[in-house]
Amino acid sequence: MPLDIVILGPPGAGKGTQGKLIAADAGIPHVNTGDMFRAECAAGTELGERVRSILDVGDLVPDELTIEVVRARLGQDDTARGFVLDGFPRTLAQAEALDRVLAEIDRGELSVVLDFQVADEIAVQRLLGRAGVEGRSDDTPDRIQYRLEVYHEQSEPLVEYYRARGILVGIHADRTVEQVFSEVQQVLAAAQQSGS
Ligand code: ADP
Repeated sequence: MPLDIVILGPPGAGKGTQGKLIAADAGIPHVNTGDMFRAECAAGTELGERVRSILDVGDLVPDELTIEVVRARLGQDDTARGFVLDGFPRTLAQAEALDRVLAEIDRGELSVVLDFQVADEIAVQRLLGRAGVEGRSDDTPDRIQYRLEVYHEQSEPLVEYYRARGILVGIHADRTVEQVFSEVQQVLAAAQQSGS
């Protein structure tokens, strides 16, 4: 059984950090749509030019564009044993599209959807903390606040979408990197047992 993981959670929840750890540990790719869009911007591609101003303000890239990027990525051979999807889906339309993409690549249900739970105040502190380090144009106080609003409005409903399917597991994401990763590993071990 492939290990197909989705990580949900607000900006600043630590999805990227844990996504990389999970991917390295399981030997599967970490697919982060934010990183993919930023790479397109840095490379100055046509797609990058189309999405640059959207990323700068913290709005969501249109669903059609985002879905195509993910469809192409998940269709690559290195996802055969699974993937860690981080930053997608972020809207209900994207979640429904993901179900279609999974069917296209002959997959059944996702192995697990991890819901990284962290209070807004902690997320804001973390994002402000990394702002100096990473220099992301969307890590200013007002853009952070805006991205959290976008998350609560557009992406948080996905928690219920996956809970209703019985594949959602909440993760206490307001702890250290090591503590969160150890909780994640327990959840993944249980998910693999029940899936195999
Ligand atoms: P964060 O989770 O810290 O907000 P990401 O790196 O995941 O940051 O995403 C950065 C930006 O990339 C988002 O604000 C949005 O503009 C764009 N983006 C990433 N994933 C998606 C998505 N699934 N749908 C639409 N836009 C996206």
